[in-house]
Amino acid sequence: MGPPGAGKGTQAQFIASNLSIPKISTGDIFRANVSGGTDLGKLAKSYMDRGDLVPDEVTIAMVRDRLSEGDAQDGFLLDGFPRNVSQAEVLRKMLEEWDLALDLVLELVVEDDEVVRRLAGRRTCSQCGRIWHVEFDDKKDDLCDACGGALFQRDDDKEETVRHRLEVYQEQTAPLVDFYANEGILVGVDATGPVEEITQRAMEAIRPYLG
Ligand SMILES: [Zn+2]
Repeated sequence: MGPPGAGKGTQAQFIASNLSIPKISTGDIFRANVSGGTDLGKLAKSYMDRGDLVPDEVTIAMVRDRLSEGDAQDGFLLDGFPRNVSQAEVLRKMLEEWDLALDLVLELVVEDDEVVRRLAGRRTCSQCGRIWHVEFDDKKDDLCDACGGALFQRDDDKEETVRHRLEVYQEQTAPLVDFYANEGILVGVDATGPVEEITQRAMEAIRPYLG
């Protein structure tokens, strides 16, 4: 877990591949169910088409199906789930039914201002869609170095929107930190600096739990 912009997806991919276990993200599960036309996918799509949030029960049913698949039987890494304490409680019960429990919850720790710096500095090319960063790519102009297209800032990347997403995270997801700290399985990892260093720190934090 970690705030938006913490690099969860990237780190999850590296860690899962280091451990040879599947990375299971709710985004991937949603897409697989919707494109596969499963009953759950159709149900989820009916909510999304109306602009509504997919209810927890539907998300959880999809996660249950995914965790039952063969490649998840020797371990898995969840990315983007659970998102709130009630989902975490359901997950715990679900795993208990299978005599399982989470081994470890990794929290990617990044200050709010650093998140804003990362996300609000992003500029998207209006022609090729490539993303640049005003600071990290040392962008002096508003043109794409790849194709010359004009760069713009996506609404999602505006500082105001980023601050709002951080508030939502604080409200809904941050209580999970206490939840898993109480279970004694939470480990925080400094998620600033080069991507490879963060992966290294994460792997060191995980190692004692591998048994
Ligand atoms: Zn471009």
